[in-house]
Amino acid sequence: MLKKHGLKLTPPRLKVLEVLISADRAVTYSEILEANGKTVDRVTVYRTLKILEDIGLIHRIMGAGDVPVYAPSTGKDNARQTGFKAHLHFYCTKCQGVFCLDDHAMPSVILPEAYQVHAINLILTGQCRVCNFPVNNPGLSAL
Ligand SMILES: [Zn+2]
Ligand SMILES: [Zn+2]
Repeated sequence: MLKKHGLKLTPPRLKVLEVLISADRAVTYSEILEANGKTVDRVTVYRTLKILEDIGLIHRIMGAGDVPVYAPSTGKDNARQTGFKAHLHFYCTKCQGVFCLDDHAMPSVILPEAYQVHAINLILTGQCRVCNFPVNNPGLSAL
């Protein structure tokens, strides 16, 4: 994917991608910095995120919590040409986690005539699975 865009898979790019892919939810810029143990400087992380976002490998989620978060993009490997797979985002008010709900259909929206959609940004707010069913939940451990 990077090669297709004439970009090299540099160690910082690989590291940022690894953090995003291994996380179970979307991550913030500071979390990526921390996960890299400061081996990658702030500007490089910032630029790397921008590049990865530009080529459609990752996406940025705004408006869920106080800061933007990043997640890997799913769907076809050439997101730019095949169209980014629109999906719901879920913001947990308890743990502040942002989750991509990739497999859940988007609600269909009927727009007034002559409106053209370029992007859909839908964020549901509530409590995530983990917060709803903590491991010490007696109901679950009994299973
Ligand atoms: Zn939660
Ligand atoms: Zn997402």
